[in-house]
Amino acid sequence: MTNFKQPSTVAVIGAGVSGAACAASLQRVGLQVTLFDKSRGVGGRMATRRARWPCPPDGAQAGSEQVAEFDHGAQHFNARHPRFRAAVARAQAAGVVATWRPRVHSGFSPLTERSGFVAVPNMPALCRHWARDVPQRTEHPVQRLQRSAAGWQLVLADGASVGPFDQVMLALPAAQAAMLLAGHHDDWADALAAVPMEACWTLMAATDETDWPWDAAEPTKGPLAWVVRNDRKPGRSAPSGVACWVAHATAAWSAEHLEADPATVAETLRSALARLLPAPTGLRWHHTSVHRWRYAMPTARVAGTDECWWDAPLGLGVCGDFFGTGQIEAAWRSGDELADTVASGLEALNEEAESV
Ligand SMILES: Cc1cc2nc3c(=O)[nH]c(=O)nc-3n(C[C@H](O)[C@H](O)[C@H](O)COP(=O)(O)OP(=O)(O)OC[C@H]3O[C@@H](n4cnc5c(N)ncnc54)[C@H](O)[C@@H]3O)c2cc1C
Repeated sequence: MTNFKQPSTVAVIGAGVSGAACAASLQRVGLQVTLFDKSRGVGGRMATRRARWPCPPDGAQAGSEQVAEFDHGAQHFNARHPRFRAAVARAQAAGVVATWRPRVHSGFSPLTERSGFVAVPNMPALCRHWARDVPQRTEHPVQRLQRSAAGWQLVLADGASVGPFDQVMLALPAAQAAMLLAGHHDDWADALAAVPMEACWTLMAATDETDWPWDAAEPTKGPLAWVVRNDRKPGRSAPSGVACWVAHATAAWSAEHLEADPATVAETLRSALARLLPAPTGLRWHHTSVHRWRYAMPTARVAGTDECWWDAPLGLGVCGDFFGTGQIEAAWRSGDELADTVASGLEALNEEAESV
């Protein structure tokens, strides 16, 4: 581990996978890192939501509530790059990642088996695990950055200011990072503002359980793109007799209905899900809700071949999924790469100072 004589203070803004990876690596090399996020918890688009609904009035538990969780953002991930594979293997050894082999139903073709990874017991658990030793300030929406001779101040939505920090790392979706960069690094801000993002409407639903012989589906027509039986992912559960579903709409349908009323969206997506769930005596719905991801995924990477940006004199860095394929692995790689770049630069400065 590097031992910096005067450890730099670093603010990492955004506690999704790229921010968690970046913050944890910088903390490991001895910097004083604080991780900020506007939400109540870490995870970003590796998200989960808890829902409650009343037990059926005709059942033994009438009058009480049922509770279940739905991974309503990213569903699973792949690990191809050796560094990410090694990080995932360590998380798997710690019990925070499991292999998921869903039987996938697509149109009329036979079921196929896929393989990927999921975090356990829910998707944000992996970001919580990676960021576990880093001081965290959640419910801190950063609205503006201010730079002075003392360093960077983070100006929050309520006008309060936190800092100063020697360095600031932005680990945000492209559009949000662009807003904070404006006036500090306009070329980066312009490039990020031009990254195209697609939206996604997501349905979370609980039905009566029937032993449908598949765990995920890729419908070939209609508004749904990807349907997952959430309670059959490793480490999840559902109330007895209940099946929990997460269904993502296609990008085209989501764009067309971006401003639609959530109740209408829920109705349409629920009808599409029902077509996949034949039930001889009709299907009972215990819970239905929807979430709109206005900025779900970048559809193209930011121009160039960089995996992150780091301006050492300014003490300003950027990482995120838009430096790659727009997925979890790309986000982690970018955060890890930014931390590596920053640490090696600071190490060189440290050695220079020691030799004087
Ligand atoms: C519906 C959906 C399905 C997906 N499915 C998959 C999948 O199956 N597999 C896969 O690999 N990828 C999938 N993805 C993509 C994947 O989730 C992302 O690529 C990845 O999680 C991005 O991580 P990130 O750290 O770059 O950004 P994020 O996860 O977006 O993290 C950014 C964080 O910054 C915070 N933030 C934003 N603005 C501010 C601010 N001003 N101040 C403070 N905090 C702020 C946010 O709250 C958030 O926590 C999916 C995404 C969505 C939305």
